Amino acid sequence: MQTFKTESKKLLDLMINSIYTNKEIFLRELISNASDAEDKLYFKSLTDKSIELSRNDLTIGISFDKDARTLTVSDHGIGMDRDALEKNLGTIAHSDSQEFKAAQAAAEKAQAEEAGAEKDGEAAADAKAADAAPKDAVDIIGQFGVGFYSAFMVAKEVRVVTKPYGSSEAWEWKSDGVEGYTIEPAEKEGFGTDVILTLKDNAGDENYDTYLTEYGLKDLVKRYSNYVHYPIQMMVTKSRQKPKPEDAGDDYKPEYEQYQELETVNSMTPIWKRRKSEVSQEEYNEFYKSQFHDFADPARVISVHAEGALSYDVLLFIPSRAPFDLWSKDYKKGLELYSSNVLIMEKCEDLLPDYFNFVRGVVDSQDLSLNISRETLQQNSQLRAIARHVEKKIQQELEKMLKNDREDYEKFWENFGRTIKYGIYTSYGMNKDTLGKLLLFYSAKEQKMVTLAEYIEAMPEDQKAIYYAAGESTEKLAKMPMVKAVLGKGYDVLLCTQDVDDFCFQTMQNYEEKDLKNVANGDLDLESESDKTAAEEATKENEALFTAMKDALGDKVKRVAVSSVLTDAPACLTADGPISLEMEKIMAGMPDSDQVKSERVLEINAKHPVFEVLKAAQAAGDADKVKDYTDLLYNQALLVEGLPIDDPVAFAQEVCKLMK
Ligand code: ADP
Repeated sequence: MQTFKTESKKLLDLMINSIYTNKEIFLRELISNASDAEDKLYFKSLTDKSIELSRNDLTIGISFDKDARTLTVSDHGIGMDRDALEKNLGTIAHSDSQEFKAAQAAAEKAQAEEAGAEKDGEAAADAKAADAAPKDAVDIIGQFGVGFYSAFMVAKEVRVVTKPYGSSEAWEWKSDGVEGYTIEPAEKEGFGTDVILTLKDNAGDENYDTYLTEYGLKDLVKRYSNYVHYPIQMMVTKSRQKPKPEDAGDDYKPEYEQYQELETVNSMTPIWKRRKSEVSQEEYNEFYKSQFHDFADPARVISVHAEGALSYDVLLFIPSRAPFDLWSKDYKKGLELYSSNVLIMEKCEDLLPDYFNFVRGVVDSQDLSLNISRETLQQNSQLRAIARHVEKKIQQELEKMLKNDREDYEKFWENFGRTIKYGIYTSYGMNKDTLGKLLLFYSAKEQKMVTLAEYIEAMPEDQKAIYYAAGESTEKLAKMPMVKAVLGKGYDVLLCTQDVDDFCFQTMQNYEEKDLKNVANGDLDLESESDKTAAEEATKENEALFTAMKDALGDKVKRVAVSSVLTDAPACLTADGPISLEMEKIMAGMPDSDQVKSERVLEINAKHPVFEVLKAAQAAGDADKVKDYTDLLYNQALLVEGLPIDDPVAFAQEVCKLMK
């Protein structure tokens, strides 16, 4: 026997014993796998001439044996050879990627919390990884493809007997879901896979007998797998009237007999062809979860039916959470593409713009040719027309949600806002008018999320630009001298905490003809003309001092000048030119970032007592003091901005010197 890897064992145990409360979903998982396996074989047959399939071959069978307590799900799909069995079923989530570890940690954390356990040292370390993962462990586990293992929630033993198409060898994988599994040669007629569960014995509240009844199984198929596009067939017992014997007398009473018949249990009428008013939310939810392997209900469902020269049906889902791999380079966007109910492409990328890459769904059009291929998609004007319609519908749905259901929208924004901001940035602001409507940012004044339109609406009459500050956290940003200065004028400031924010605003440049201004860049159009002249004059008056300060700092700054806006802080840093301090901070983490440097300006508050001290030192000809104090102010300003200081030790010594 081969033993499960330790981490698999832990996860298996977790899943079976605590995570799923809804055990019956195991059947959906097995049917989804069967359907996927048939899709795979079908796709292969399109290019591999040696595979001869008729659509009728591709059915999924369900059968049970009450006495033996077995339930079997059979498919005529791609099957697995020995290696595939080992790889796919030997380890849970055969990737040992970071995400998986994070998911596992999250699951453990969830379990620990449930048990009310104290965090020990080890758990605390795990918790760090867990923070990086979405909160809900159930979701993550679903996303990591442990669907098959859900069988162990109801089975004490699972056997998988499988034979790849065209192979003469069959294999049997067998496990009790506790310690490990065995793989041995087996006999099997025909290609495909049989998954045979030996159900657990009933215990207490747990009754597994419903999975051994026609009624129970039919109900589950209808509820969870109704729209699987292969027929799910089951032998069912029916009853019929016996033919009346010829010699039957007047007192003949009809007799009945029972017989067995293969019945297709799922409806197979594609859900996307039905009007939204005819489908319940529950049905949409179940379709979404089984089709797209998500464990959470979708946040929104969009259904489109177009008729005319080009007819098509579209069913779209906006997920309620981001998939774990949304930000990995392996993430592939796309919609399922069907032509007359036949799946022709699993992920048609061209149907979704990058900024809506999180949307899942189906497009079906009888007007598309069946042998549409990747190369021709670009040139296919029908597909382009559908894609435009899809994009418009998503945009409208999001605008509707924003308007009517703010709470839902804010949740959506937390999950996918970053994608939309990237969309604005990577398209060089081309879509800023439409996507701009969807943006939400934290308002320092309102202390909540606001749209740009709401920001503009609330602007005092004399305010010309939209102000924002970019940095690590809203708390830190709210304390920045420049933010305070702008707020002091009665203007709101958007506090932006995602790395993409500054880039997004810089590509937009303006919104509804209002310039977008980072408060950390000079030139804020904030001060009155008289403030500006006063600052310029004060700078000129103290030219010798500022030259000395600039010399003290060398290349670190472009110039030192009197600030026209600072209110209480003694000094701050701003940037001249297009590169803000925040951008420099972000770029510093990337390769070849040396060239990206902002042009820093040290602005001094002429109304602050510190300025008098500097002036006095300069007047007394104490060049050392001027240099030391300049260094101090500069480093302080860096710290306030959240930027690293060059020499923290020297800074600490300097502060101590002052205290002595
Ligand atoms: P997922 O389906 O999410 O990838 P599962 O744990 O359900 O995760 O299955 C793991 C893998 O095992 C699948 O990706 C597939 O390669 C393989 N597999 C499962 N069931 C079948 C089946 N009926 N036929 C062929 N391969 C299967």
